[in-house]
Formats: sequence, C-alpha cells, structure tokens
Amino acid sequence: MEVHANQIEKRSWIEVDLSQLKRNYQIYKQSLKRDAEIMAVIKADAYGHGDVQVARILSWCGCHLFAVSNIDEAVGLREAGIQGEILILGYSSPFYAKTLHDFDLTQAIVSEEYAEALAATRWRIKCQFAIDTGMNRIGIDGDQPDDCSRIIHKYSDILHVNGIFTHLCVADTDSDECRDFTWGQINKFHAVADAVSDLNLPYVHCCNSAGGLHYLSQDPVFDSIGTIVRLGIILYGLHPDVTFPLPSGIAPALTWKSAISQVKDVHPGETIGYGRTFHVKRESRIATITTGYADGLNRLLSNRGYILIHGHRAPIVGRICMDQTLADVTDIPNVKMGDKVVMLGRSGDLTYTADDMATELGTIGYEILCNLSKRVQRFYVSSNNAL
Ligand SMILES: *Cc1c(COP(=O)(O)O)cnc(C)c1O
Repeated sequence: MEVHANQIEKRSWIEVDLSQLKRNYQIYKQSLKRDAEIMAVIKADAYGHGDVQVARILSWCGCHLFAVSNIDEAVGLREAGIQGEILILGYSSPFYAKTLHDFDLTQAIVSEEYAEALAATRWRIKCQFAIDTGMNRIGIDGDQPDDCSRIIHKYSDILHVNGIFTHLCVADTDSDECRDFTWGQINKFHAVADAVSDLNLPYVHCCNSAGGLHYLSQDPVFDSIGTIVRLGIILYGLHPDVTFPLPSGIAPALTWKSAISQVKDVHPGETIGYGRTFHVKRESRIATITTGYADGLNRLLSNRGYILIHGHRAPIVGRICMDQTLADVTDIPNVKMGDKVVMLGRSGDLTYTADDMATELGTIGYEILCNLSKRVQRFYVSSNNAL
C-alpha cells in the first residue's frame, strides 16, 4: 500500500522508502568498477521489506534477475506477476519438480545426488549448479574442477542447466587472510567455469554485496567468469559487516515506527515491568510504547536498547513485553499519548539503524530485518516524487 507517511496511525508499522531502494540499487551499480548485471536477492520477503514490492520497483529499474531462498517465495513472486529469472538458492524437494517447471523457476543444484533425483522426475527443470569453493554449505566440490565438469556436462543433457555459482564467505572482511581465502574461492570457481566454458552458460556468478565492491575489479579473471553480482544487504542500505564501508548515498530504506499509548510519573523505589528488573531511582516519566517482542523487538534489548522519540534517545527500561515496551522519557520534553516514535530509522538528527541494534545484540543487521514480524504492517512511501 503506498501512502503518505503522515497518514499512518498504527500500533507498530514499517515504512519502506521505495525511492531509497531505487537509489541504493543505482548507486551500487555505478560503484562497481566494471559493467555488471545485478541479481537482486529478495529472499526472506526481501529481508523484511516485502518481496513483491521490491521486485516490482527493481523490475522498473531494469533488473530482471532475482534470487530467493525457497520455492514458496518463488511461486509467490510469479503469482504476483514478476517476470525474469527467479533462482531458488536452496534445496527444494524433488516432489516439487512439476511446480519448478510450470512456474519457470531456476533451481540451485546442491549436490550430484540432488541432480540425480531431479533428473529422475523427468521434468526438464531450469537449474544452476552450486559450486562449493570453501564454505562447505552447498554445492559440488570446487576442489575437483574435472569432476564438476563431468557432472555438469552429464546433467546438461537431462536438465536445462543455465548457470553455475558459488558463494563467498569472507568477502566482507578486510584482512590479508580473508582476502587470500576469497581469491582462492574465486580462482577455484574460475577453474570450474573454464572447464564448462563450452556450454556457454549465461549465468555464471560468484559475488555477493561485499564481493561486488571489493573483488569485481578490472581483474581479467572476471572476463571469463561473468559479471553478475547477487546483491542483498546493501540493496536495503545496511552493511555486510559493520566495518565494511558503503558507497556514499546508500542508506537504509526501511523505518520502523510505533506509538505511545500512555505516559506516567513513576517514583523512586518503584519498579518497572515483569520481573521487577528496573528500579526507579529518580522522579521519572515512563512512556508505554506499542511494540514488543512479538513485533520483532528482541527481548535481549530489555534494559539495554533505546527508542528514538522527538529526536532524543529514550532508554528501554524493564523487560520488553510481547506487545509493549517501556521507555524512560524523563529527559525528553512534551512526550504524550499518541506521539509517534522510531524503533529503527531517523528521528531529528539521530539515527538508529538495524546495524546499530544488531551491534547492541551481538548479531548482524540481516537478522534484525528478518525478525521484523509479519504483524508489523508494511507501507510503501517515497521520499521524492520522481518515482
Ligand atoms: C543471501 C545470499 C546472497 C546475498 O548476500 P548479501 O550479503 O546480502 O549481499 C548472495 N548469494 C547467496 C547464495 C545468498 O545465500
């Protein structure tokens, strides 16, 4: 639903700025040191942003390659009318072979055994072989390029093989060891790509968000292994790793907001919330926020995190509840029932991003975004009118 942000009066909601998403896509594309195609990674409901809306705006920008995690996500996109390549990055049971075929989906092949199982269904399914170059998650063994070549050639007669890919696992970390490891992965992938070059596969790709910026340089190796970047986290304006510098202008596309249902005075000696974990030491004003852990606010932020109110930080006090959270607003003037607050995003001169929240929790921004619950309604807004 596209609306004007001022009109939203909900308990807990997300505003996705489609023009910022578009900017992130375009800035990233321009920052790449060579011409490259972008495969937009829109798994997990586009990292919580809404996969159909994200796919639509990116299609509009010219993107026609998409990646998701599973067949349900892929079918949902097709049913919403999304065209182009949709690559399923993980395992789908061979039971769904006909669905893969009927919806024109592209399935990642995770192993030779899996290729055999899909082939046995007799559906000529579009697929891309995952090559394991050191992550040890999925794929055929990239240390054995000749075996890879034999397997890929064998199944290219039975399945419709249109690509190969690998995944870099430390491309976001700036150290000699990680750089050596990543070049090792890229070179292994290159050897496999060389061994199947006679198949002229159109989709040969190895870079994620971080890899695209750090490794997709003028290095000639990329002439033969293709220049498609699978762009995930940076599309949404967050860092693959908090130490990883982003091109200027890329910013979070999502703002998470909530409201205040009550503000009250609480006196020294009283306690706040379940478990009585917060002891009031001064005359305090406490605001009740209408968002809780069932909305995706991690309960480990109890007595630790904060919420932005009128351009100030209000510390979370007491334990976060399922649907409500308490915040200390003693030092913030004019806080009242009905005021809007920012759980993630910008308020006045302050910003608090999913990366900041993740750092507080010892996790990554990806997880914060993916945990934003379904019951938090998404609204689509545009920060400029040029959409
Ligand atoms: C999730 C994923 C990506 C996207 O990674 P980002 O770090 O978000 O850019 C790319 N490739 C594969 C195989 C993935 O699973």
